[in-house]
Amino acid sequence: MKNCIICKAIKPLDEFYKHKKMTDGHLNKCKECTKSQSKERENKLRLNPDWVEKEKERAREKYHRLNYREKHKPSPESKKKAVDRYR
Ligand SMILES: [Zn+2]
Repeated sequence: MKNCIICKAIKPLDEFYKHKKMTDGHLNKCKECTKSQSKERENKLRLNPDWVEKEKERAREKYHRLNYREKHKPSPESKKKAVDRYR
């Protein structure tokens, strides 16, 4: 059990997001508070056209990166060849 610093509620640890840098490996605020805070932050940021533009850019870049990985994944066929060579 852990005390949330935002809503002051005592909740089980799995109600807190894990965080390596925290002393007990979990954030000090519960998932609910984390979510509502990030939503609030996003709502504020959405008013900023620069941020919206950057977000779009990031989404596009991510899309391309993932696509790139998909293309360069070894095909089942080439994998089989590698196994054959190993034997
Ligand atoms: Zn909370």
